[in-house]
Amino acid sequence: MEDCIFCKIIKGEIPSNKIYEDDDVIVIHDIDPIAKIHVLVIPKKHIKDFIELEDEELQIKINKAIKKAADILEISEEGYRVITNIGENGGQAVKHLHFHILGGEKLPTR
Ligand code: 5GP
Ligand code: ZN
Repeated sequence: MEDCIFCKIIKGEIPSNKIYEDDDVIVIHDIDPIAKIHVLVIPKKHIKDFIELEDEELQIKINKAIKKAADILEISEEGYRVITNIGENGGQAVKHLHFHILGGEKLPTR
């Protein structure tokens, strides 16, 4: 999709620090991390948000990519947080579905 920053990253038009890629998903370091480890799991297909993710096969692929990223980052054992923001009040700045993986430290609960 034009004017979508994540589509541009996926196409390689904007550089990113990629830790994993397969046919359907990329995982990149967040440009402005809010935890010691902060990566974004992004499906290559432009989907607006989690609610628009109707493709069950893609859901499984994203799930696997999250597990894969956690293994690569060596945080699978200690645990981490997965967040996806939806819409304005949810704080979604980029309207291309993505999952934040936060970890590498004990995260505040509330
Ligand atoms: P949202 O608020 O939409 O859930 O999160 C968007 C995230 O994308 C933010 O954490 C922000 O720091 C990150 N981000 C925005 N632009 C870029 C970029 O150009 N490159 C990377 N790597 N991350 C970005
Ligand atoms: Zn996009």
